[in-house]
Amino acid sequence: MTAAPAAATHTITLIPGDGTGPEIVEATCRAIEATGVKIAWDVHDIGVPAMVKHGDPFPKSTLDSIRRNRIGLKGPLTTELGTGMRSVNVALRKEFDLYANLRPAKTYPGVRSPVGAVDLVVVRENIEDLYAGIEFDLGTPELAAVRGAIEKASGAKIREDAAIAIKYISVMGSRRIVRFAFDYARANKRHKVTAVHKSNIMKFADGLFLRVAREVAKDYPDIEFEDRIVDNMCMQLVQKPELYDVLVLPNLYGDIVSDLAAGLVGGLGVAPGANIGEDGVAVFEAIHGSAPKYAGQNKVNPMALMLAGVLMLRHIGEREAGDRLEAAIAAVVAEGKDVTFDMKADHDDPTAVGTKEFADAVIRRMGGGNA
Ligand code: NAD
Repeated sequence: MTAAPAAATHTITLIPGDGTGPEIVEATCRAIEATGVKIAWDVHDIGVPAMVKHGDPFPKSTLDSIRRNRIGLKGPLTTELGTGMRSVNVALRKEFDLYANLRPAKTYPGVRSPVGAVDLVVVRENIEDLYAGIEFDLGTPELAAVRGAIEKASGAKIREDAAIAIKYISVMGSRRIVRFAFDYARANKRHKVTAVHKSNIMKFADGLFLRVAREVAKDYPDIEFEDRIVDNMCMQLVQKPELYDVLVLPNLYGDIVSDLAAGLVGGLGVAPGANIGEDGVAVFEAIHGSAPKYAGQNKVNPMALMLAGVLMLRHIGEREAGDRLEAAIAAVVAEGKDVTFDMKADHDDPTAVGTKEFADAVIRRMGGGNA
């Protein structure tokens, strides 16, 4: 009898981040390893820790590691205000053209949420739109030139004391994000994609997004398609979230609606995210930041990053391990005993456990030994 081939080891770039990042990353790695999936962590820094160690917030060695391994797991990074250092989160998206921001929002029993059961996936375009950062400030010659050109081309008058931000939406950018949403829906047995826009007012930019979405939808007859205007979408998500499944949105609406969706399922502490590019390059993270006031206290909730780990496992083809990890997290949260302070009705509840102990409980649920 021949022995079964040993499971392949996945090499993954691990970025511990700063603030509470290293603590939740350590807890998450232990939980991921407890699934039995073999992972070699290629540890690198970026942002403030890289600045401190290497004098460069965006070291080539870190970028090379992501390029080589194609998959990253990232702890939150502090964006230092007023230092002129650009956001490494935004820079990473641009560097690897991580055009799809995937943010599932799902209620787990035991997590307090303001509405009933929610199970949504928000797919946000990550590169274009008002978020591209093309802006013109008051008093600059560039603003005067742009205002002049716009007034000439459109016949509209723009007040002289107005700053200008450019919103652009392309056919290519819209097509690939809508395709991503449909492919995700198909691969994850979701039944409907809703395109969200404001094409009644922005007839060209948002109109283009909607037109492309309708065209792409024709290639996916097995998945229902509909569209909603963004303001109506927000109201409906609060009143009847159960009507929706996968939402696909341009960048700015996606940013806002995904936080609304996170609020519907219990807040940032439980919300994972993934930034995914062409050919499957992907960086997985929690949506929340580095919560620096709790750094080093073994206090914060690692659940959001663990759920990002679930997304990562599914993305690398370890779907069954991802499902097991999600079920273990859900069971610990449903029991409500071994949970961190933010999951307790009273945040000062002395029975709250720490970051490490939450991970231990998740590992025990998966049948892990020495947790
Ligand atoms: P934050 O998400 O770090 O924290 C806000 C509050 O939310 C915390 O004080 C805490 O009360 C709570 N919280 C956050 N995560 C928690 C967790 N895991 N468990 C329990 N409670 C939690 O937001 P902030 O204070 O605005 O940002 C801090 C830093 O993080 C800033 O520099 C910001 O730019 C950065 N940031 C980074 C990312 C990222 O790396 N992707 C995302 C958002 C913010």
